[in-house]
Amino acid sequence: MSGTLWLVATPIGNLGDLQPRAIEVLAAVELVCCEDTRRTGLLLHHSGVKAKRMAVCNEHTEHDLIDRVLGVLGSGGDVAVVSDAGTPGVSDPGERLVRAAIDASCNVSSVPGPSAAVMAVTISGLDTSRFVFEGFLPRKGRERATRLAELACEPRTSVLYEAPHRALRTLSDLCEACGPNRDIVVTRELTKMHETVVRGTLGSIDIGEPRGEYVFVLAGVPIDNTPATDQDVQRLLDEAIADGMSKRDAATAVAQQTGRSRRDVYQLTI
Ligand code: SAM
Repeated sequence: MSGTLWLVATPIGNLGDLQPRAIEVLAAVELVCCEDTRRTGLLLHHSGVKAKRMAVCNEHTEHDLIDRVLGVLGSGGDVAVVSDAGTPGVSDPGERLVRAAIDASCNVSSVPGPSAAVMAVTISGLDTSRFVFEGFLPRKGRERATRLAELACEPRTSVLYEAPHRALRTLSDLCEACGPNRDIVVTRELTKMHETVVRGTLGSIDIGEPRGEYVFVLAGVPIDNTPATDQDVQRLLDEAIADGMSKRDAATAVAQQTGRSRRDVYQLTI
């Protein structure tokens, strides 16, 4: 019988959000994998827990930790993964350990809890029936241009993470890609003393001097039910390609936006 790999969510600001079951699991497991032993040590101390053993799990060490974690699980012990804040595996380490545990036929479970993305989208007031998690946008180059062009065509609500020093630049790039009329909700410092939610359009939103951690919730492009003509499709393709997308990516995005078949749309690019 293998042990269980537990993904344990921790607070994104307010320590009162640590679940009682998270405390139980962190106290019981043989090994706690965390991004920063000092930070997680403080959280454990706050909860009156002393971890049996801790290991650093970040983007550089997660892969090297796999054998050790599988060793503990294989001998029947449980392992917890926590990140600095929120849910592990959501723009945080965790995914590779989960994959490895599944491949080794070990149990994987979670103590669910805070995640900035879920909190932001649910308080945004935008459509929550379908939404896409975008995480952090690529910082520059063609990858960023492609992602922005995809967002311009995305009919579902999109959730993006952003650091304060890049917040204004990203808002301005989103405005350029999606147009000034698209609704956006900018949330900041969720669950903390300075929690702020600013609602507006990309062309008018004013978030002041950026400070703290941000989640942007971007409305989807309204779905137009009138069938797109070849001229409409050609115009959207030209725009997407001018924004840096490859013909293939542009065809996929425009097909999704217009409801036309990808094959028909791709024909129009050649
Ligand atoms: N795993 C975390 C989760 O489940 O939300 C996300 C980790 S990711 C490395 C950190 C980013 O999440 C921040 O740059 C910010 O965009 C967002 N974030 C985390 N905590 C937040 C908070 N209290 N308020 C607003 N955004 C937050």
